[in-house]
This record gives sequence, C-alpha cells and structure tokens, in this order.
Amino acid sequence: MEDCSCCRADTAGAGEMACQLPPAAVKRTPALCPVTGSKGKRVGQTTVKAMLAVSLAAIRDADYFFCADPDCPVVYFSADGLQTFTVDDVRERVFQKEPQAEDVFVCYCFRHTPASIRQELLESGTSTVVEAITAGIRAGQCGCDIRNPQGSCCLGNVNAVVKSVRDGMGLRS
Ligand SMILES: [Zn+2]
Repeated sequence: MEDCSCCRADTAGAGEMACQLPPAAVKRTPALCPVTGSKGKRVGQTTVKAMLAVSLAAIRDADYFFCADPDCPVVYFSADGLQTFTVDDVRERVFQKEPQAEDVFVCYCFRHTPASIRQELLESGTSTVVEAITAGIRAGQCGCDIRNPQGSCCLGNVNAVVKSVRDGMGLRS
C-alpha cells in the first residue's frame, strides 16, 4: 500500500495539506440493513413520511435507507441501524418484497402490475408500458418520491418485469 503522499505533513507546507485524492476514492461506508445486512439505498424523508402507516412521531433527524432484499421484512432503516420500519408499517405493498406476486404495483404512479403487463402482452404480443410511463414522466405526472416505496423511478423494475414476463411466455425481446 502506498501512503497518500499528498496528505503527508512533512512534504507539505502549512496551507498545502489538502488531500488531492478525488472524491470517488473516498469510500463511504454503505448503510447495511440491521436484519439481513443487505446494502440499503438512501431515501429521502419525504418518501418515508409519505409511505409510513404509523405515527410520524417516530421520524427522527436521521438518514433513512430502503432495504430491497425480498427475504427481509424491513422496508426502511435508519443509518445507525437502531430504527426499522417493516412491511407492516408502510401503506403500500412493496414490489421488492413480493417477487412472486402478480397484483403488486411495479409502477405506483400509473398503477401498473405484473398482471396488467402480462395481460397486455397476452392480448397484443407487445408491451407499451415503458412508453406510457415515459410519456407520463415527460408530462410531469409522476410522483415516485411520494408514491413508490423505493422513493425513485420505477422504470428499471418495469423493464425487468416486462423482460421476465416476455421470457416466460416465450416471446422474443
Ligand atoms: Zn433488510
């Protein structure tokens, strides 16, 4: 291992001790779910407040993270791991926690489910769901931060569902 010479006091004069390492080299400790150890994805407090079905008196001045592990009941946890909210504490069923369910929303803003995506594919052989969502996003209609438990855009999940349903039906992508 090389020393970070840019930070060494003996080669730098006073006032020249700023580290030259690019920000990417400074690893932030990932927040891990206190139940399963899965890596959490940071969510804003707006998302947590919108999604909780319990009193918001529990909300602290803390960073909150989303646990996407399907085998874990925790939806949100605080950065220090001392506080968790499970699937029973949120207002919506959580897509990531029910990987086999057909009737759980994958797109919360425009109410698409694996079943509705499958239905369109059965009827027409094609899926327009990604285009429909994209048009909604362009029209400023989406509200992922307050509708989707993961607090961010659903398109990655929707694409995965479309591919999985297509593959299951033997349709070519
Ligand atoms: Zn977890």
